Amino acid sequence: MSAGFLLVLSGPSGSGKGTVSEALMEKNEDISFSTSVTTRTPRPGEVNGENYFFTSIEDFENMVEEEELLEYAFVHTNYYGTPKKFVFDEIEKGEIVLLEIDVQGALQIKKRYKEAVFIFLLPPTMDELRNRLVKRDTETEEEINTRFKNAFKELDFVGEYDYFVVNNEVDDAVESIEHIIAAEKLRVKRHKDIKKEVLAEKKGDL
Ligand code: 5GP
Repeated sequence: MSAGFLLVLSGPSGSGKGTVSEALMEKNEDISFSTSVTTRTPRPGEVNGENYFFTSIEDFENMVEEEELLEYAFVHTNYYGTPKKFVFDEIEKGEIVLLEIDVQGALQIKKRYKEAVFIFLLPPTMDELRNRLVKRDTETEEEINTRFKNAFKELDFVGEYDYFVVNNEVDDAVESIEHIIAAEKLRVKRHKDIKKEVLAEKKGDL
């Protein structure tokens, strides 16, 4: 069995990260979603502890001070961060931990965790990105404009990622990510002692 690893998924707001992550999680039991902490106000239908841990700025700053976050960033107009403990516990169990985070967070992870895998989700076109932001009707016009402007800045960082996936159809995007995961699981470096695994006749589990 391959060791657990971090799977970082980034992409501009409206690229469909949330939908793709959900569909990916539904199909793959060995992926655990890392629920982030945020100071953003919940959107209608969002559940505390499921979509995010919604928290005050003060509590967020305490978590930063206590070094409870693996990474954190100020995105658009709010703080977002990844709780450390959950990630480490899941990796220890051999799980793939999915972090749906922005480029600033991804770059922090890249510096510290060499074994992490980085995927950038792209919209088919920038016009389509704007359409999706408008259509989902969860932000004010001003927020949509901020997110759309930020999308162009985020695209500058696509070269820092290992893979890109275009989200034209959710099912196709999920399938591409599954292929990436399948290949990553077969990296020799993810198997502490490949010879021992083979000799133990565990080839089927590799
Ligand atoms: P939203 O407000 O649309 O849920 O998320 C806004 C942005 O924050 C998205 O790009 C999302 O990926 C990013 N984000 C969510 N959680 C985290 C996190 O824990 N850390 C960082 N750096 N970004 C996050």
